[in-house]
Amino acid sequence: MTSLNEKVAIVTGASAGIGRAAARLFAQHGARVVVTARRQAELDTLVGEIEANGGEAIALAGDVREDAHNQKLVAAAESRFGGLDIAFNNAGAVGPLVQIDALERSDWNDVIETNLSSAFSAARYQVPAMRRRGGGSLIFTSSFVGHETAGMPGMAAYAASKAGLVGLVKSLASDLGHEAIRVNALLPGGTDTRMATFENDEQRAFVEGMHALKRIARPEEIAQTALFLASDASSFTT
Ligand code: NAP
Repeated sequence: MTSLNEKVAIVTGASAGIGRAAARLFAQHGARVVVTARRQAELDTLVGEIEANGGEAIALAGDVREDAHNQKLVAAAESRFGGLDIAFNNAGAVGPLVQIDALERSDWNDVIETNLSSAFSAARYQVPAMRRRGGGSLIFTSSFVGHETAGMPGMAAYAASKAGLVGLVKSLASDLGHEAIRVNALLPGGTDTRMATFENDEQRAFVEGMHALKRIARPEEIAQTALFLASDASSFTT
């Protein structure tokens, strides 16, 4: 079994969907986990579930757009669990699905802040902590949107943020490899979470049809890839 024994992880976007599934899976495989999102109650429920299954986790609610919160998460990993080995920077938001001339500057800024600038902020605090540990694994959730050759309608800000994330990840991977810090982007296909809401059956069928498996993923399936990237099983993957 893939082991995360002795490892400490931060998982963002853990109140729901992919992050929630990943936090549970990481804990199940032995990691001690700091979970975060804005909704405290959902995080408390998650921590309760992890503890009931014999795992260890703490919840720190907050906003990944804020430097102070990202700093606090790293401090919590170090003070409560002794260090930081893994960060699954997964929180994200789509923003309004509208044409460019209807997209408000404030909505553009919000999507870029949530999906891209948050990654920069998180890495600024996580990398020094991983250095203190002698290495680590940074994982960022990008998306097939912004990467596939065909664009998706109404998703300009989201696509730009997720494509930008891939650029950031490539740069960090080349900067940090010599320090045994691996950096990867996970690009899920459509995944059955609150984010993937469809207006009607036709729209759902269209998105399912874009995927080779002719369905969208369960969050637990995407979490398995995050587990691989977090663990030493992916020791040459960056
Ligand atoms: P989800 O169920 O809506 O989860 C999004 C998570 O991000 C929630 O836990 C949310 O928690 C958190 N979050 C959003 N804004 C935040 C903020 N400002 N500060 C802190 N936490 C914040 O959607 P999901 O599908 O699991 O999304 C996870 C990641 O996968 C995202 O990066 C998304 O872009 C990416 N992705 C999803 C799909 C898909 O089809 N679902 C496909 C490709 C990529 P709170 O609301 O409690 O803050």
